[in-house]
Amino acid sequence: MSALVLVVEDEEDLASTLEFNLKREGHATRVAGTGEAALRAAGEDPVPDVILLDLMLPDASGTEICRKLKQEARTRHVPIIMLTAKGEEIDRVIGLEVGADDYVVKPFSVRELMLRVRAVLRRTQSSEPAALPQGERRFADLRVDPDAHRVWVGAFEVTLTALEFKLLTTLLDRKGRVQSREQLLEEVWQMPSELTTRTVDTHVKRLRQKLGHAGDYIETVRGVGYRFLDRPREGT
Ligand code: CA
Repeated sequence: MSALVLVVEDEEDLASTLEFNLKREGHATRVAGTGEAALRAAGEDPVPDVILLDLMLPDASGTEICRKLKQEARTRHVPIIMLTAKGEEIDRVIGLEVGADDYVVKPFSVRELMLRVRAVLRRTQSSEPAALPQGERRFADLRVDPDAHRVWVGAFEVTLTALEFKLLTTLLDRKGRVQSREQLLEEVWQMPSELTTRTVDTHVKRLRQKLGHAGDYIETVRGVGYRFLDRPREGT
């Protein structure tokens, strides 16, 4: 599966290491060392299939660039993997405010990043409307339209990242059944399960926050994983 990957990274050594490895995987690359260059490079034809975005750029923060890319009609559907350093606000990065699809913490192994790129690409492909089960799903006041990729709680639309959407539909389609973190990593992230299961927790947490009270429809099953309620609770 070859793709066009935009690498936004001001550390030149890291940028060329990434470029080298991406090319070895059969991908084409575009590299930008500043936020301004990143926005320009993301808008060029053809639009990249994935963007790797450093959080600390000389002229802007990666979160700011990410937000701009997610607002732009041309680039809003392009998955973004943030390259963050330890201690940076990972919750914010992948959450509501910024909307990145995934992240790796520096220093990361190149192998791990390549796996994530592969997973993101697979996910983008498999989340195309034709590949999804058809038809709207409803659960109490939660409404999910897989074709339009839209979610409502009551009258309010909730904006989810592609990954959160897949996480929600995966849980919802197996309601009443426990999904282990490892299963979710495989199904939603499409990654070998030796990778960190904490990723699942972080994303479920953000998904719940975004869904508000409907977030309670997703239960934590201690020591195992998560489960979407079998049926709405009394009074919901
Ligand atoms: Ca940097």
